[in-house]
Amino acid sequence: MNFRDLKKQSKTGPLLPEGFEPECWAEKRKEEMVKLLYAGMDPACRELAGRLEMCGYDEPCISPACPECMRRKRIWFIEQFMRLTNDKNWVFVTVIFYPDVMDTEDLTTLDPRKFFNRIRKQFEKCDIKGRALGGFEMDFHQESKKWMPHVHFVLECTDEKKLDKFKGLYRKSKYLNTRSGVVNRPVLIKPLGNRLNLSGYLVKHEWSRVEHYVFNGKRISKKKFLPDVLRRESLITRDWLGLAKMMFLYRLRRCEGKLKKNSTT
Ligand SMILES: [Zn+2]
Repeated sequence: MNFRDLKKQSKTGPLLPEGFEPECWAEKRKEEMVKLLYAGMDPACRELAGRLEMCGYDEPCISPACPECMRRKRIWFIEQFMRLTNDKNWVFVTVIFYPDVMDTEDLTTLDPRKFFNRIRKQFEKCDIKGRALGGFEMDFHQESKKWMPHVHFVLECTDEKKLDKFKGLYRKSKYLNTRSGVVNRPVLIKPLGNRLNLSGYLVKHEWSRVEHYVFNGKRISKKKFLPDVLRRESLITRDWLGLAKMMFLYRLRRCEGKLKKNSTT
């Protein structure tokens, strides 16, 4: 998407999910991010803070670390999602890559395409020929002090056999037994539910921290904000990755500012 597309789409007033961040929220949030980044000692933080500060409607910075640019890109994504998907033929999938947890100092080597390629190969193995779209995310797990890569996407496939085969590829011990006493669930497949609200969930504006606790004998996880030091790390990482590298597409391609079905596959 280029500058002109960004301007155009923010004037059309699209349908948005419940509680979607208003423009004033994104503005305020950007000011917070700039302050947070300037408070970091790293020159890379200060450089990013300067870029965010200079970002404006006429010359957007297009950084995934910028709440204003991310808001516009999220609106664009929601429009594409609503146009391409339907309740009947699509499911919502989350894949958590438990064996690929990362330390904060290794984030400089992060490449979401590694995970996307793994999923694409698995689709081929399972003869899944529908389209898919979604996004890559990292959660910081408070318990292990590690980053957990995961991908949320919607998939055009409701064939139970094929979906079971896909799930089965993650029943290997390396995905299931990474923490003692805890049973991992590397793949979750659900119906789409409220499609519009789900659309906002697929591409988010920030990475989170996950806290685990036990309530009535059940292990519960809760998403929280990252502490400042880790938030700076996540902003720097998201910035150098860029949104295009964090968006998962299968049998879809970008064409003239829109997502279109890939005619070559
Ligand atoms: Zn920006």
